[in-house]
Amino acid sequence: MTSLRFDELAELLGDGGIVEHDVDLGRRTTYRVGGAGALFVTLLTAEAANALAAWLPSGVRVAVLGNGSNVLVADEGFSGITVHLAGEFDEILVEGELVTCGGGADLPRVARRSVEAGLSGFEWAVGVPGTVGGAIAMNAGGHGSSTAESLLVASVLDLSTGATCLRYCEEFSFGYRHSNLKSHELVLSATFALREGNREDGLAQLRDIVAWRRAHQPGGQNCGSVFINPSTVAAGAAIDACGLRGRRSGTASVSEKHANFIQADPDGTARDVISLISEVAAEVKSQSNLVLTTELKVLGDHAERFPLLLRLVTP
Ligand SMILES: Cc1cc2nc3c(=O)[nH]c(=O)nc-3n(C[C@H](O)[C@H](O)[C@H](O)COP(=O)(O)OP(=O)(O)OC[C@H]3O[C@@H](n4cnc5c(N)ncnc54)[C@H](O)[C@@H]3O)c2cc1C
Repeated sequence: MTSLRFDELAELLGDGGIVEHDVDLGRRTTYRVGGAGALFVTLLTAEAANALAAWLPSGVRVAVLGNGSNVLVADEGFSGITVHLAGEFDEILVEGELVTCGGGADLPRVARRSVEAGLSGFEWAVGVPGTVGGAIAMNAGGHGSSTAESLLVASVLDLSTGATCLRYCEEFSFGYRHSNLKSHELVLSATFALREGNREDGLAQLRDIVAWRRAHQPGGQNCGSVFINPSTVAAGAAIDACGLRGRRSGTASVSEKHANFIQADPDGTARDVISLISEVAAEVKSQSNLVLTTELKVLGDHAERFPLLLRLVTP
């Protein structure tokens, strides 16, 4: 693709989108490490999303990035097109017990809006720094609940065909931190079916969740839990039992506060984070015969260079 085509895209999207070149992708994630994205497209309207899908040259790699709170960008960056939602995709609409949100809406905002409206069922999301689209892709959850428990239906744009369809909850094949959403599918909006609750109780629950997170989880540069909890034990407890709390590899370290969090230093590299993830998984396998798989996903070119245990944003 030539820069001429990029200019053509900016013109095509008009006020409905922002097209940027050589964007520091790492800075768009909570890890805040990693390289640049060749082209970063922020979609502000559904018309622009359709126009992008119609324009996309076949064979170009596309990645969708929400708040980047579950993504580690490779140091070499990503040469494809990264798509991000903002503008009308940040909106939240409450109608009775239904809450309809754009795919870019922040989860803590959705949690607070639903509680303010006297609804219950989304409180768990108040401490998850992702978006609605990211929550559906990951089946994010916590505090005994998950996205799958209240999602009714989502509008999904297939960026490879330009077709938009409504996909009902049972069609996502949700599992633990898993959905069948493909890397070229963009969640434009979603409707959650919540239940009537008590506003004061809901506000108290939000406060408890926020306080619990402050007490148990570290701040700084991380992506939350790195490993999926195996069925028999919490991943953090398994890592801790192997004496890995505080283990360091270059600019990355296992959090002293929560052993399933791997922190990056301010001047850190994705390479060090990946190397520590591999080291921790190998040590837990050798000491406990437990196979850990990752919750976080890596965004970058050359998938063959990443250790097999890592999940990738693009195939
Ligand atoms: C401090 C901290 C605490 C966390 N706590 C939790 C927790 O309690 N529970 C939990 O489940 N997770 C937790 N996470 C991880 C993360 O916040 C969730 O996985 C979240 O749902 C990711 O949303 P995102 O918008 O940041 O997605 P990203 O990280 O940007 O992307 C994650 C995946 O979703 C896809 N995606 C994003 N937006 C869309 C879209 N609109 N359409 C299609 N695909 C999309 C991406 O392509 C990627 O595959 C935590 C992270 C941090 C940093």
